[in-house]
Amino acid sequence: MSGDFKCIPITKRSRALHRADFGCLKGVYAVNITLGCSFSCVYCYARGYELAPPKGTVYLYHNLPLLLQREGRHLPIGTPVIINTSSDCFQPHPDILKTTHDTLAVLLHRGFQVGILTKGIVPEGFKGLFSRYARQIQFTIGVVSLNEDYCRLFEPYAPLGTNRLASAERLKSWGINVRARLDPLIPFFSDTEENIKSLLVGLKECGVQEIVLSYLQLRPRILENFQRELPPQISKLIFSCFPKKQWETTGSKTLSKMIPRSLRLKGYARIQKIAQELGLKTIICRCKNPDLGLRGSCLPTELKTKKHKRFFQKRLFG
Ligand code: SF4
Repeated sequence: MSGDFKCIPITKRSRALHRADFGCLKGVYAVNITLGCSFSCVYCYARGYELAPPKGTVYLYHNLPLLLQREGRHLPIGTPVIINTSSDCFQPHPDILKTTHDTLAVLLHRGFQVGILTKGIVPEGFKGLFSRYARQIQFTIGVVSLNEDYCRLFEPYAPLGTNRLASAERLKSWGINVRARLDPLIPFFSDTEENIKSLLVGLKECGVQEIVLSYLQLRPRILENFQRELPPQISKLIFSCFPKKQWETTGSKTLSKMIPRSLRLKGYARIQKIAQELGLKTIICRCKNPDLGLRGSCLPTELKTKKHKRFFQKRLFG
């Protein structure tokens, strides 16, 4: 993993808490510690955002803890807040980690329920804070493979999958509930029997009991990244899994393409069978699979807002 990126502190002038307006997160407050992410995953949709800094540069919102102290006063205890919708708060830079620690301290101290999704490693220095507020933290590690070649190719500057599992194990020992998100699954690369078996066995061994699944959704900017950053034979093979010519807006505001339904169903069934044998619970992400008629949201219960709960109850019970 390279720590070779520029971290530039900037002052956030807009609100620190904004409501996410997409997919399963719709309506939930979200916070990002940085603009841009040094992990530079090839499939990252946030790299295509208009304001995203160039690769190798990250802007750090150094005043987030102060802003949140002010804004947090107006929200009730138990308010769900999601960290990392378009960046990663555990990028290996001392200033980012300090701001992350201070930001989480404000949110947890206010009694909020905090959901964190990361591919980063949580340093030992978070032990005190996390152990104290363990019941308010819902942690998800993003991991699709323990294979080093895979990680280097698709997530070039993120910690290796094996290191993420070690981090998850440490979090469990601090009393934190940890889930895993297998997203994006990429046909031929991360959805193979061999890859899934070794990953799920590793997750089981470190105490994870629930996994969320989702196949890759292609977007125009992700396609460009694939063309630029992957060997041509690999990107061609991946593109062959998206036979539709037209881009669509199914299930999101953004233009995207999905892998054909039948292939996704087969892939999910294969993974679910392995997970079931290991006693792991699986959830298929509804918002990334709008054509599968799924119900409910893949968020942990503690992070569902009242609005969410009402919406999903209505869907479930008519
Ligand atoms: S870790 Fe997340 S935010 Fe960072 S580059 Fe990868 S997908 Fe994007």
